[in-house]
Amino acid sequence: MTATELLIRNARVVRPGDPGTDHPEPVDVAVAGGLVTEVGADLSTHGVDRVVDAQGLLAFPGVIDAHQHWGIYRDLAADTGTESRACAQGGVTTSLSYLRTGRYYLDRGGAYRDFVPVALDAMAGRSFVDHALHLAPMTAEHIAEIPSLVRDFGITSFKIFMFYGGHGLHGRSQDQADFLMIGPEDRYDLAHFEFVMRAVQRARETLGERISLSLHCETAEIMAAYTALVERDGTLTGLRAYSASRPAHSEGLAITMASYLAHETGLANINLLHLSSAKAVEAALTMATAFPRVDFRREATIGHLLADVDTAHGNGGKVNPPLRERADVEALWRHLLAGEIDWVVSDHACCRDEQKFGADRDDVFSAKSGFGGAEYLLPGLVGEGMKRGLALSRIAELTAWNPARRYGLARKGTIAPGYDADLVLIDPDARWTVHAADSESAQEYTPFEGFEIGARVTDVFLRGHHICRDGRVQGDPRGGYLRRDPA
Ligand SMILES: [Zn+2]
Repeated sequence: MTATELLIRNARVVRPGDPGTDHPEPVDVAVAGGLVTEVGADLSTHGVDRVVDAQGLLAFPGVIDAHQHWGIYRDLAADTGTESRACAQGGVTTSLSYLRTGRYYLDRGGAYRDFVPVALDAMAGRSFVDHALHLAPMTAEHIAEIPSLVRDFGITSFKIFMFYGGHGLHGRSQDQADFLMIGPEDRYDLAHFEFVMRAVQRARETLGERISLSLHCETAEIMAAYTALVERDGTLTGLRAYSASRPAHSEGLAITMASYLAHETGLANINLLHLSSAKAVEAALTMATAFPRVDFRREATIGHLLADVDTAHGNGGKVNPPLRERADVEALWRHLLAGEIDWVVSDHACCRDEQKFGADRDDVFSAKSGFGGAEYLLPGLVGEGMKRGLALSRIAELTAWNPARRYGLARKGTIAPGYDADLVLIDPDARWTVHAADSESAQEYTPFEGFEIGARVTDVFLRGHHICRDGRVQGDPRGGYLRRDPA
């Protein structure tokens, strides 16, 4: 056995799905070779290189933030540097980013066999946390590439943006071919989604069952019509107008269509991303009953759980699907507490001020969609969750264990011997106020500005490296790209 490199003493370790750790007693965690080797009371410090006293703070498994968008609005290399620091600051030790060809991101089309190496190269050596990629097949050629993407790059999860074909990214209709950079023979529509599903299922049958498909569920036609209605009417403004322009039933309808297609194509692994409303979750639960052979996962974001159209700080809170009315936020919490949400993510998409807002900062329709928030994910969920009676062991499932299992991160997701030593120390009694200026992210504003958070991340370890200490990110970027095994 290798000598213990690091001993974290006196940490109240929370284990996913273990209610015995909802009120944990302090223990010690031994780390060697980047892995946890032992968890127990009063472990020996003999011959240990380094001892860190956790002083009775809570220790959560490092967060697996399964939904981010590195490089969507900025150079991917620069974004990897700054946004992975925001991850480290918030206890996110693994980031999974959605990537695609077309406008934004690398601003190029073409085959993924050419695209992915460029992306991996841009991220290499710059990330403070471990990272993996989800990819969206945009063309028939991409669909044909799915098996080789699994084999050559260890990419085992794919994505469909259901509304892109008819609505673009920001809600102004754009030419499909120009925005998506697809050929004249390609259509990004329901038939394409069906063929993606058939190809993902074939890959599951031939390469391994741990391959899944994620869907952003909104309906282009509903949104286009309601956007016109809301803009013409002119009564609503800001985030309330944006929410009304992309109504919740647009989510419910898209979820229903996606689920039927999954049933029709025999695709078992479907991840329904960022459900934002009561109607969305109700549709998702109805579909789970209707199609029991489809193994659904339901995702929520910390933004939709913490902020509503009134409390979010201005049009910086524009995101797809939109932040909603308070009643939807409360419904999300009810479903979360009932065990009907599988994981919580940030949907981190750094959009700097100069890009975010149009000439008229008050015009929500000319603003761009998306914002960062990885740095608030765990403290926000622990702080608000404790108030609402969400068990700590459940929070560890929602932020680490569940996404790690679904997305094939075999060595991640809990604090136990044999797993990567990814840990977050949290002070559950520290109240603090969010100020964008305190964030490591390159984004200058946040919709959470002024929010009171009831728990604070103090220290973060990535495979035993102390990457954040007393709230300060430190050291060199040590994050690595995670190839995932489909079997
Ligand atoms: Zn997203």
